[in-house]
Amino acid sequence: MTRPIILNAADLPEWTHEELRTLFTVLDLPDDPAAARAFLQEQGSRIRGIALRKTKIDAAFLDALPSLEIISSYSAGLDNVDIGAVRARGVSIENTSHILAEDVANAAVGLALALTRDFVNADAFVRSGQWPVQGQYRLGRSISRMKIGIVGLGTIGSAIAKRLHAFGSQVAYFGPSRKAVELPWYDDVTRLAHDSDMLILTCPLSPATHHLVNADVIRALGPDGFLVNIARGPVVDERALVAALAADGLAGAALDVFEHEPEVPEALLRDRRLVLTPHIGSGTQETRHAMAEHVVDALARHFGIDGPRTRATRAASLQTT
Ligand code: NAP
Repeated sequence: MTRPIILNAADLPEWTHEELRTLFTVLDLPDDPAAARAFLQEQGSRIRGIALRKTKIDAAFLDALPSLEIISSYSAGLDNVDIGAVRARGVSIENTSHILAEDVANAAVGLALALTRDFVNADAFVRSGQWPVQGQYRLGRSISRMKIGIVGLGTIGSAIAKRLHAFGSQVAYFGPSRKAVELPWYDDVTRLAHDSDMLILTCPLSPATHHLVNADVIRALGPDGFLVNIARGPVVDERALVAALAADGLAGAALDVFEHEPEVPEALLRDRRLVLTPHIGSGTQETRHAMAEHVVDALARHFGIDGPRTRATRAASLQTT
């Protein structure tokens, strides 16, 4: 049987590339945009699958790949993909939302705790020798007694809601549609912010969510409110956030993602009311490994290449790394 031809547009672990090369004929997308365009014009008609990470897939890209059947994405977020154009061409999309949700939810709750209990500054307080000098550290806030609004109750948002339920927090959510859950649904994010002590963002980045959290939403959250962003940076209007913090209009924020990451505005870097992490929501060895496996497995499944063969290949490659 001729092996299906796959476009490798993903910066993945070497063992994943080896697996792909074992199962498919792999064409590597050149990094340079002009070279990539020329490459797709020449080879595009042969390509039936894409292993994807961050490469932008728009209608023009898809037009160059008339035989494309499947995109297998390492990420859960598909904001780099024109989903409408993909669906219009009958191409299927696989992502890793179900694989990373637990760890991203753990990260979100960890950030919420670090933020409200001031763990990062408390650590610095102990290390700097201030404890014997200044005595008791300032009090934090209790997420167990908070109303927490989740913006986007999908796979990750639901995993966060489950954890917050265990903590005793009151949870409500905002999103385009009411879900079959007992939690209160808001059809207006500003009203949810007004009624919440903390907003946790877990929606996709799209034209509808770009700067969804703007000056009005932050004002509604108020000077005692907290913001946790584990979704995508541009969901928050970063300039509005900086302005609100400068005016003491928000108690603090925990940000795993940034509008122009890896660049972070100086005002945010200096502000000790913030907990900042470098887009590590899904960043555990176990989950990143499973995400890479899924990129390969989804392609293999689609093309009817048996799973055990994939597993055996992986076990062999893992032993040699
Ligand atoms: P998901 O299962 O598709 O859930 C997304 C949720 O957002 C759905 O409930 C959806 O509602 C809702 N939503 C859609 N449009 C919205 C809007 N305009 N306003 C508010 N909510 C909206 O996705 P997921 O796996 O939970 O992932 C969510 C996002 O998290 C990803 O897109 C990605 O950007 C981000 N993420 C970040 C990290 C990290 O490392 N920080 C890791 C993984 C993912 P409907 O179901 O009604 O459409």
